[in-house]
Amino acid sequence: MINVNKIREDFPILNREVNGKPLIYFDNAATSQTPKQVIDVIVDYYSNYNANIHRGVHTLSQEATDLYEEARLKIQKHFNAKHSYEIILTSGTTHGINLVANGFSSLIKKGDEVLVSALEHHSNIVPWQMLCERTGATLKVIPMNDNGELIMSEYEALLSEKTKLVFVNHISNALGTINPIKQMIEMAHKVGAAVLVDGAQSCPHLKSDVQELDVDFYVTSAHKMCGPTGVGMLYGKEEWLNKLPPYQGGGEMIDQVTFEKTTYAGLPHKFEAGTPNICGGIAFGAAVDYMNAIGFENIASYEHELLEYATQQLLKIEGLKIYGTAKEKTSVISFNVEGIHPYDIGTILDKLGIAVRTGHHCAQPIMDFFKIPGTVRASFAFYNTKEEIDALVEGVKTAKMMLS
Ligand code: PMP
Repeated sequence: MINVNKIREDFPILNREVNGKPLIYFDNAATSQTPKQVIDVIVDYYSNYNANIHRGVHTLSQEATDLYEEARLKIQKHFNAKHSYEIILTSGTTHGINLVANGFSSLIKKGDEVLVSALEHHSNIVPWQMLCERTGATLKVIPMNDNGELIMSEYEALLSEKTKLVFVNHISNALGTINPIKQMIEMAHKVGAAVLVDGAQSCPHLKSDVQELDVDFYVTSAHKMCGPTGVGMLYGKEEWLNKLPPYQGGGEMIDQVTFEKTTYAGLPHKFEAGTPNICGGIAFGAAVDYMNAIGFENIASYEHELLEYATQQLLKIEGLKIYGTAKEKTSVISFNVEGIHPYDIGTILDKLGIAVRTGHHCAQPIMDFFKIPGTVRASFAFYNTKEEIDALVEGVKTAKMMLS
């Protein structure tokens, strides 16, 4: 059970006002808010442990290294990776995807096929387009239906021995659809294709077990799950990470360097060139602890309640249409009100202290599918309340009255 009033005390930002009104934060799919348990870790790091890692003999460096590696272990345990060296600490989801896309340049060729889903964020489209341009491989799209669900029969028809890679997000940021990734992974493996799952939107809502999923690569960003920005993780199966070449060259990722030849460090360091976001990595570990202490089952059931309530209340507004009505969906509502531009609704809601996202949500192909320029997106987290949803509904009604 979620004690939302108690949880809200953990988030200092929820006490602030915006435009003279209490902040109502419904832009959680863009980035989540940070609890004081994570903020304290950041302050503690810079107050007491700030040093470069993996290279110092001095105490501070060793302490910072231990904390950083401890965070990797927490992340490993959370996602149930078999080995801690299968967890690469990155700057976020985008970095993880680009690392894999770059690595596959030497593993795929003309005639091979790469599948992406119609529900992807630009960060899970553009790197694969670039990969296909470099290699001559063909990019194909797994289509979706009007509810915003992938059409599995079409996916099956697209899979063949030519398919080398499949990319799909676990949950769509624009519509909230939860994709049947376990089944999709199984189907891809039958034709020998590897699968990368973009977990940017799933990590705040559910706990993924990479071994149970049998996924080849899984990427996410800490800032979506109560951690700081600029840090994330790439999980890769050991055999895949060994096959991929390093992404960036530099310090930390080497074994021996001479001007004639460089040999690379083992996993995970081979993919971690340069000084990483040390504080961010440690805070990512603290965020994982924080969310696990609340419990993902509690989070999921509470957020589901918020989703159902908000859907019912919003649909009472005449002319309001929700995009993305998948059976399996998380607490994201993308909507428009007939005849009103989403940006205008977002602007009025901001005047009322309500933060929502408007626009294409870095998923232009989804907007094109629905033939709209964008939507208003309200995305809920476990620290939101039904009273805040009531304020949103009233805010949309006010906007409608003012704008139509
Ligand atoms: N994929 C999805 C589904 C996302 O929602 C996001 C963030 N909006 C990203 C990828 C990119 O994450 P980041 O900007 O943290 O790299």
